[in-house]
Amino acid sequence: MSAIKRILVTGGAGFLGSHLCERLLEQGHDVICLDNFFTSQKSNVLHLLSNPNFELIRHDITTPIFLEVDEIYNLACPAAPGHYQFNPIKTMKTSILGAIHVLGMARRCRARVLQASTSEIYGDPEIHPQPETYRGSVNTLGPRACYDEGKRAAETLFMDYHRHNGIDIRLIRIFNTYGPRMHPFDGRVISNFIRQALSNEDITIFGDGTQTRSFCYRDDLIEGMIRMMNQETNFIGPVNLGNPHEFTIRELAELVIELTRSGSRLVYQPLPADDPTQRQPNIDLARKHLHWEPTIELREGLLKTIEWFRSIRLSDYRPPTPKY
Ligand code: NAD
Ligand code: UDP
Repeated sequence: MSAIKRILVTGGAGFLGSHLCERLLEQGHDVICLDNFFTSQKSNVLHLLSNPNFELIRHDITTPIFLEVDEIYNLACPAAPGHYQFNPIKTMKTSILGAIHVLGMARRCRARVLQASTSEIYGDPEIHPQPETYRGSVNTLGPRACYDEGKRAAETLFMDYHRHNGIDIRLIRIFNTYGPRMHPFDGRVISNFIRQALSNEDITIFGDGTQTRSFCYRDDLIEGMIRMMNQETNFIGPVNLGNPHEFTIRELAELVIELTRSGSRLVYQPLPADDPTQRQPNIDLARKHLHWEPTIELREGLLKTIEWFRSIRLSDYRPPTPKY
């Protein structure tokens, strides 16, 4: 096993963060989970609290914090459109001030720091599938810009701290990822469709359902993220992490209905502004440098996610924002 490290996970109580904390603890590391619980709740990490190698800190990453760590995974940021558009100025502060604060910490501690960037930095892409060299097509004035531009600025800050201060960075661009412990009221397409299907409510397709996404199961994504952090070559990224298998939103709805054996009907609602029409990662770099590619296809991942949704009590979850 590799050396035991003290690792900070910002946003560690969230959907991806809580699973990452779990995996790092399993590897024997000392894990500090930092979160302000905007889009998550303590129950996501309750099962980790009895582990002596786990610490939980309630803190907002827009204010500085001083910790001694060897590695930082920077995941703190609302990720679902309804969440990040709720308070767009706060979203941008979280990305930008959050990046500055973790990079400052990395500089003081000589820690390696990984940024959870996103496919959203490609905006509504004109190139398909999207390679890392594509510079994107983001509407700087639209409702998604607080997230897209915040994440783009964070990438810039990471590169500048790397070039000017020699910080050891890693940049990953995550494409739509789903799985158990997604917030059931996050308004993302997979949580909405499963919740609606399980309660035989109408399934809300935005637009005509021909827009595409490529869905990656949580465990595959976390494996790629840890590989990127741990690889010791001079490859700092950015690297796309996602499942290249592309589906239309209507195909997804039909698959969810089939797997849940639901009686739900499809209903069509207006497409939100700037909703990307297509999204599919080119993962050649991840294959080459990390020897990584997803292993769990949508049908299998959805079955695990549906099972988890069946096991929870929705009344235990507070919608973080009114829109979902
Ligand atoms: P999530 O909302 O479940 O997790 C984000 C966590 O960050 C939550 O626990 C939230 O409470 C916390 N947080 C938000 N603002 C904070 C602040 N100011 N200070 C401290 N904590 C704060 O979402 P997720 O899907 O787990 O996303 C995790 C990261 O991965 C995010 O940075 C997101 O942008 C990125 N990402 C996710 C996806 C995806 O499909 N899941 C895709 C692209 C990028
Ligand atoms: N979507 C939908 N119905 C819903 C929620 C989302 O048709 O109830 C669509 C949304 O318009 C988008 C796609 O599903 O085209 C993915 O949306 P999500 O919010 O999950 O992620 P993102 O748009 O950030 O990729």
